[in-house]
Amino acid sequence: MHIYIVMGVSGVGKTTIGRLLSEKFTLPFFDADDFHPLRNVEKMKNGIPLQDEDRKIWLQTLSEKIRSWNESTGAVLACSALKEKYRKQLQSVPDKDISWIFLHSAQEVILNRLSSRKGHYFKPELLESQFLTLEIPQYGIHIDVNKSVEKIMEEIMEKISNEKEKSQIGLLGLGVMGRSLAINLATRGVKVAVYNRHVENIEVDIAKSFASENKSIYDFPWFDELEAFVNSLERPRNILLMVNAGKAVDLVIESLLPLLDKDDLIIDGGNSHYKDTVRRENYLEENGFLFMGTGVSGGEEGARKGPSIMPGGPAKAYNRVGDYLEKIAARDKAGNSCCTYIGPDGAGHFVKMVHNGIEYGEMQLIAEIYNYLRFHTGSTPEEIAALFEEWNAEIQSYLLEISVDILRKKEKNEFLIDKVLDAAKQKGTGGWSTNAALELGVPFDTITAAVMARNISGKKEERKAAEEEYQPTPSKEGNLQEISESLFKAYKAASIINHSIGFDLMGEASKEYKWSLNLSEIARIWTNGCIIRSAFMEELIDILKESPLENILMHPDIQIRIKDSKPELAGAVGDALKHGFPVPVLSAAANYLMSFISGQSSANMIQAQRDYFGAHTYERVDKERGEYFHTEWKPGKE
Ligand code: NDP
Repeated sequence: MHIYIVMGVSGVGKTTIGRLLSEKFTLPFFDADDFHPLRNVEKMKNGIPLQDEDRKIWLQTLSEKIRSWNESTGAVLACSALKEKYRKQLQSVPDKDISWIFLHSAQEVILNRLSSRKGHYFKPELLESQFLTLEIPQYGIHIDVNKSVEKIMEEIMEKISNEKEKSQIGLLGLGVMGRSLAINLATRGVKVAVYNRHVENIEVDIAKSFASENKSIYDFPWFDELEAFVNSLERPRNILLMVNAGKAVDLVIESLLPLLDKDDLIIDGGNSHYKDTVRRENYLEENGFLFMGTGVSGGEEGARKGPSIMPGGPAKAYNRVGDYLEKIAARDKAGNSCCTYIGPDGAGHFVKMVHNGIEYGEMQLIAEIYNYLRFHTGSTPEEIAALFEEWNAEIQSYLLEISVDILRKKEKNEFLIDKVLDAAKQKGTGGWSTNAALELGVPFDTITAAVMARNISGKKEERKAAEEEYQPTPSKEGNLQEISESLFKAYKAASIINHSIGFDLMGEASKEYKWSLNLSEIARIWTNGCIIRSAFMEELIDILKESPLENILMHPDIQIRIKDSKPELAGAVGDALKHGFPVPVLSAAANYLMSFISGQSSANMIQAQRDYFGAHTYERVDKERGEYFHTEWKPGKE
């Protein structure tokens, strides 16, 4: 049954309006003040403002009542509910079962009313503190009460009847991800309207067909006309864009702007570049709108059943739609949502970009190990699948799991993997994360190597021509049984290093952009729904909680593991290269590790060379840091 909560500061008319509403809807009326423990009533009588601690039991009682009214008769409740966190505490039933009616007006208007009240224990002096506490809800029906009761009721009834028809969120772009997310939202009880553009003879009836194909799930209001779509949404509006990153996002934003009202929110759920997100957020903010850049990971299936969601942007925007996003996300092992507020401006898209960077590294690691085994040991895809399956019992990596399925897939009795062209592209996020690492001066070996491996794979024709000229003779004498154990250790070490590199970049970006990223929380929301979920990601939650600012490789448990597998990592790289097989990410991981653990690097020679030819100066180990020296290095010059 439905619950109407009439909220606002004391004196705004919650009880009067609440009672009238209860008569209209023939629902029982309750006043939240009647559920205060005596202690709170005394405080209020004596003009002492209530603290959060005082409100705790009261809100808990109310939340339980709301659940029981929802299961029985429905109700109208008059309750101040001034802060978002109080409202969240009250929300013990689905969003769709609660209508918030926020009564408000200027402080002087309310003060006048309170001053003329008799027989009520609220002291007008408390109004000041109520106004300071009030956090205006970003949703629900908002009514200025500086008018007659009849007029207020008329407005509320009109808005309620409009709201009933309206959707809580609009999804624009019914491609692979948009379709799945729309179904996910609807199945989680969120009222969602869908839109896809109409392009004569090309994109026709996409939204209509989607709605009719999925009628059994939800009666999707569908649109291919933008204005009608926008008008079908509750105000302030929430519009989720699932369109291709880049120009399309700007085009869609421009076409939406003339149709939007102040405080309407656009969420970009695609893989946009974080700098574009910052630009768009500033642009929309200047025009009075809200914008969020939100990373979504999990592919089509994840989007449908529960992705990992990385929302960034203004906290007030997240407060408005966070509930919806948290509902549709995957759950971690403890049952918590794999969606959390990441941070301001481009933080959400930055974190999604690094997620994809780590993904690039993990994919390439599996690919190069598969390639080495396939051609050095001559193992069949099935034999490699069996080995990967054994490894995955321990490491539980989603990417290794799907690789097992891929290796086993047959077409007309032949392994399909052998028919797949060995040329990959890098579409954006992998390369972008490498650029970001360069800008921030962060070592990024494994992920950069994975991006470059895709680039060189793309040069198929050149590679074939070079093979003919050079006629390499890769050794095919390897033995799967003999090398598998050490290769597994090398793989695990390289994977740890790949993760440490990705998290290091986020740590540096967080400092540079003042995002206060919570790396442990980021690891947590990556434990399910996303492509790089694994047993190691589970471990990272605690590792990053214990030492959030330190490189993962410095954690004592990780040190033990890396020390134990360092010889195998270096050995695997050496053997693979010696036998004629490229292993770019394994070797990048080995090089990163050796560099990271070397107190003495080779950069003294670099600095001397720079000073020799360009008088760039250098610092000395026998002097204070920050003191610079120049030398005439040429023999005979002093
Ligand atoms: P699709 O190509 O399947 O769908 C793109 C959608 O955008 C279509 O509905 C398309 O409409 C619409 N669109 C494109 N250009 C315009 C435009 N100018 N105006 C209006 N609509 C437009 O892409 P995905 O669903 O796969 O991806 C969407 C976003 O999500 C991308 O940024 C992608 O990188 C990201 N993403 C994708 C994942 C995946 O696994 N696919 C995973 C995670 C994120 P129309 O049908 O009319 O062309």
